[in-house]
Amino acid sequence: MKIVVGHLYPDYLNIYADRGNIAVLARRASWRGHELEVRTVSVGAPVEPGEHDLLYVGGGQDREQALVAEDLVAKADGVRAAVDSGAALLAVCGGYQLMGRSYRDFHGGDLPGIGVFPLETVAGETRMIGDMLLECELEPGVARTLAGFENHAGRTKLDPGAEPLGRVVAGFGNDGESGFEGCRVGRAVGTYLHGPLLPRNPWFADWVLAQALAHRLGEPPVFEPLADDLEQQAHTVSASRARSRGGRR
Ligand code: GLN
Repeated sequence: MKIVVGHLYPDYLNIYADRGNIAVLARRASWRGHELEVRTVSVGAPVEPGEHDLLYVGGGQDREQALVAEDLVAKADGVRAAVDSGAALLAVCGGYQLMGRSYRDFHGGDLPGIGVFPLETVAGETRMIGDMLLECELEPGVARTLAGFENHAGRTKLDPGAEPLGRVVAGFGNDGESGFEGCRVGRAVGTYLHGPLLPRNPWFADWVLAQALAHRLGEPPVFEPLADDLEQQAHTVSASRARSRGGRR
């Protein structure tokens, strides 16, 4: 089956090579006999209804975020319609912030977001940097860990009752206080975990792929497991690095 990915602003939002996540999705899809077709959707191009099974947006610094924020507002109806009709979304760091309602940057400038996620972000005085570990329960009763790296000044506050992606085991997460990391609305997920996020969290790569396929099939498919020895080793190293930095900061 063909899985169509809309990659938003790869020319602006690609800090820490966040586009590497796409390479992981493409390879894992092809191992299952599916083909990932990646279409760039940058400044000036619309998000057409029904076109994409997955929208992906990476992270960037305040400067790059300011360059795309107005354009994203122009795409807001298309992005929201895609998510409402069951397309998956993965948004990382700067892209995650813009998928919330607003981002106040380090200099006090207000950037509009598009409100896919029920949250707001305000930059603080210090940056929250380092390896991070979280515990997620994306399916009821199935707890798994995600390991990655965060680097942000933004403090993200979820609206009351909003669903986080996970709970912080080690690191800062959304704001360094709440114990929450990321946000989930159905098949849409936002996170501060940067690339390489998916190479060291293969279960999550498969979850994202399954959500994209669910847009076509109605239900997420159950994949045969792959031999993820190297991926698991990467996860273990990353998780132990985060743990060695101590508990929640
Ligand atoms: N500019 C945002 C912040 O510092 C996002 C940074 C990023 O994507 N690494 O909060």
